[in-house]
Amino acid sequence: MDIRIGNGYDIHRLVEDRPLILGGVLIPHKKGLLGHSDADVLSHAITDALLGALSLGDIGTYFPPSDPQWAGADSLKLLAQVHQMVRDRDWAIINIDTVVVAERPKLKPHIAEIRSTLAQVLKVAPDRIGIKATTNEKLGPTGREEGIAAYAVALVVSQK
Ligand code: MG
Repeated sequence: MDIRIGNGYDIHRLVEDRPLILGGVLIPHKKGLLGHSDADVLSHAITDALLGALSLGDIGTYFPPSDPQWAGADSLKLLAQVHQMVRDRDWAIINIDTVVVAERPKLKPHIAEIRSTLAQVLKVAPDRIGIKATTNEKLGPTGREEGIAAYAVALVVSQK
């Protein structure tokens, strides 16, 4: 059995007058994440984990922030596109696990929806997607609420 693992990390700045979107889900909060796309830090970390598993580069390789085409892009669509690249190469997701680092808002009430949203995009059962949330104990940029960070790992198996 040929299996491979990839990891991804991302961070975006929290600012006023932006929606907060995590894993494709709009989360009510007084601030949102700044970025060229919708700045969905969780989807970006998962996208990079999938690309990393197959040594296909990183999210910036395919969706460069310099390209106006990706302005305000729905990151779930970018994730779906990368998932298709994985499938085109005859690989399938075994599971994905993630950590979102945010001092606020509390993400627990939203985790089930985030998980089912990502599971739908990635065409896997929700129990193959782990979403964990932690604060940074008020330490560093995430702890000072200057941004939200996300880590992801993806395990994939060859279908050949
Ligand atoms: Mg990003």
